[in-house]
Amino acid sequence: MENVYNMTLKRLEECGEILGLQKSAIEYLKKPQRIIEVSIPVEMDDGSLKIFEGFRVQHNNARGPYKGGIRFHPNVGLEEVKALAMLMTWKCALLDIPCGGAKGGVRVDPKKLSEKELERLSRGYIRAIAPFIGPNIDIPAPDVNTNPKIMGWMFDEYCNIKGEILPSVITGKPPNLFGSEVREIATSLGGKYVLDEIIALLNMKPPLTIAIQGFGKVGGGIFKLLLNDKKYKVVAISDSKGGVFSEDGINDERIFEHKKNTGSVVGFENTETITNKELLSLDVDILIPAALENQIREDNAEEVKAKVILELANGPTTPKADEILRNKEIVVVPDILANAGGVTVSYFEWVQNREGFFWEKHEIEEKLKQRITNALREVWEISKKMKLDLRTSAYVLALRRVVDAMRARGWI
Ligand code: NAD
Repeated sequence: MENVYNMTLKRLEECGEILGLQKSAIEYLKKPQRIIEVSIPVEMDDGSLKIFEGFRVQHNNARGPYKGGIRFHPNVGLEEVKALAMLMTWKCALLDIPCGGAKGGVRVDPKKLSEKELERLSRGYIRAIAPFIGPNIDIPAPDVNTNPKIMGWMFDEYCNIKGEILPSVITGKPPNLFGSEVREIATSLGGKYVLDEIIALLNMKPPLTIAIQGFGKVGGGIFKLLLNDKKYKVVAISDSKGGVFSEDGINDERIFEHKKNTGSVVGFENTETITNKELLSLDVDILIPAALENQIREDNAEEVKAKVILELANGPTTPKADEILRNKEIVVVPDILANAGGVTVSYFEWVQNREGFFWEKHEIEEKLKQRITNALREVWEISKKMKLDLRTSAYVLALRRVVDAMRARGWI
């Protein structure tokens, strides 16, 4: 399997060449500005002490304070966090958010912890990284296996340390604790706006069939939004245990209850069971990877039949797979654009927290729609003008903005 960090470096080098950037700028951006590695002692419910490994990587803050989520997962490692931090730098720049990129993670399987153990771990992580974060320094947010409740504990812990209430230190907090009503659905909603715009740009005629890989916050969220839109028909969904398929469409919200009760989408009524591999190669109009990285690779890209891939997961497609998809003329809407709704609404939350004034829900949704569809149109223009795929065009735009800021600050 390709190393996700090497993949991001490779894309950086390629785009640096296209832009004709000086070598020193690329060398600067290859390395994160700061790596924080911490051990987090947690008292378990049985009285024993367990030490967890945690990371925070701050990639680049040329355009503003670092921003990026915190992931709790058994496979979290430094290389992965470094790659995801770099992706955040590009994502913020692409959406013209005045922030840089960071990412955090703890190597843990949160499903094996009790609620109290999870709380102690979340608070311990924030205590460990507290000297390096702050509303004008680095603003964490949720990612895989973390949620508003966890952000609430982390916020509380940080305020206890500082002795003051600082809502803008962390985003993705519960709506009743300075959070945004839209944050939970923001990544999926942003993805839906991008999807509506790309099918219009490509002149694709509805109804369009869709397969979704991953049924968590993001995959489940976009499914809910697609259910209410007649332009689309979701025919397949999967999670870590397998997938389901129905030619007539899985047009039924009760699948959430089924997953809650059984732990998986597999076995949902009126569907056939399929594997994750089969889902990726279905003959659909749109494929939405919304699980983890490295899903579409050299060994399975040739089998992809979708016309459009909307990357809601981070890093689901490897560079070698990109090449294959390009030759097959499959349009890939890259992660740094397609899933940027989360960080955009997080940025809006940060702005509102700093002002102490909250916007109406519809205002947040309208501002998100405008910002993310504008970004897509800018990327589309570059792709037409420079004859590049959408990912390369998105990187070109983002990289140019970051390098311009670095130059303006006299770093290069
Ligand atoms: P989540 O933990 O809520 O959901 C992940 C889902 O993927 C689960 O349904 C899980 O069963 C499924 N899954 C895991 N391995 C799988 C496999 N091999 N095949 C099929 N399904 C599998 O996480 P999430 O927050 O929905 O994040 C999903 C992706 O979106 C990640 O790549 C994350 O970095 C990215 N992302 C999330 C946000 C956000 O706001 N949550 C924002 C931007 C990007």
